[in-house]
Amino acid sequence: MLPFFPPDLFDDEVEELLDTVRRVATAPAQRFILGERTAAFERALREHTGAADVVACSSGTSALVLVLRAMDVGPGDEVVVPAFGCAPLAASVIAVGATPVFADVHPWTMTVEPYEVEQAISGRTAALMPAHMFSVMADMPALRQLAARHDVRLVEDSAVAQGAVLDGLPAGRWGEAGVYSFVQVKAFGTVGEGGVVVTDDAELGRLARMLRNHGQPPGRRFEHHLVGYNSRFDEILADVQLRRLPGLAARLERRAAIADYYTERFAPLVERGVQPPPPGREGRCHYVYALLVEQRDELRVHLAERGIGTHVYYPATLPAQQAFAPYAKAGRHWPHAELACARNLAIPVYPHLTDAQVEAVADAVCSFPGGPR
Ligand SMILES: *Cc1c(COP(=O)(O)O)cnc(C)c1O
Repeated sequence: MLPFFPPDLFDDEVEELLDTVRRVATAPAQRFILGERTAAFERALREHTGAADVVACSSGTSALVLVLRAMDVGPGDEVVVPAFGCAPLAASVIAVGATPVFADVHPWTMTVEPYEVEQAISGRTAALMPAHMFSVMADMPALRQLAARHDVRLVEDSAVAQGAVLDGLPAGRWGEAGVYSFVQVKAFGTVGEGGVVVTDDAELGRLARMLRNHGQPPGRRFEHHLVGYNSRFDEILADVQLRRLPGLAARLERRAAIADYYTERFAPLVERGVQPPPPGREGRCHYVYALLVEQRDELRVHLAERGIGTHVYYPATLPAQQAFAPYAKAGRHWPHAELACARNLAIPVYPHLTDAQVEAVADAVCSFPGGPR
């Protein structure tokens, strides 16, 4: 059996993990959040990304909330988000009191379509919040131009795209602020929850830093300049991530090599209704390798019968979800987002797959007869 979510992600690091817990737990300072390890981790990510500021916080979702609040997005404002994607895209906007406006996605990349974003801009639009999806970055050059032309803020949901680079600029630095998530399954996932705000705007960084700790300026305890949040970062996780950062590039390269191999093997399957993601390395992250399959459920069964686990991300569009439907324009449709929900099927792409396992997955997909519905 080859599970989609591997249970052994951290198996070869158990001793180091226990050592980290022991070191942080027995340190004389007894500092478990926002200490020197968190500061060192933020410094390391600043160097890694070239960003002016990196602010560690409790999750990718909360990083989005911190950014929206730091931009003063709130009641009466609209934020344009993709109709296809994960809940935080809509929920973070609603959490700050603003309204998400859903825009349709590109049928192949599944990232938000700039033309659709422009159609969704109104006099109340405060920000655009595109997201990178699975293995492909959103069309950030076009979205940057749009944001500038309409004088609205640009938040980059780069939660899944740490390590991706487009036109020489890392994911996370295309927006005025971006985010990364360290939840277990992400490419730089860890043994718990965490995230960061990444920004070249020193003022956004300063505000996010205050907001993550109940609106207190650093070092000024019980002085609340803003109504903030408890979105602090854990010292044990900071230590774990600092230790794992140097290996990230090799793990991302392994993911990319697996994706390259899959995409080459799957090119002939288009005729059978199986579409691999766009090839290449530019603007790619390989967090998830998602096929678009006309007979998606049949391929899922076909792979399960051969012991290969798969995953369907986002079986419904965001505006179709009970929680977010009240914010969606009545009678509107997002046909490409709906197709992505019906057709996406993700196959294993994690870095510790062996070559033999990768080949077995590819063979199993290639043996799918497919065909029109
Ligand atoms: C995972 C994810 C998030 C949220 O990150 P968490 O750390 O799970 O809160 C936000 N946006 C996208 C696109 C994601 O995939």
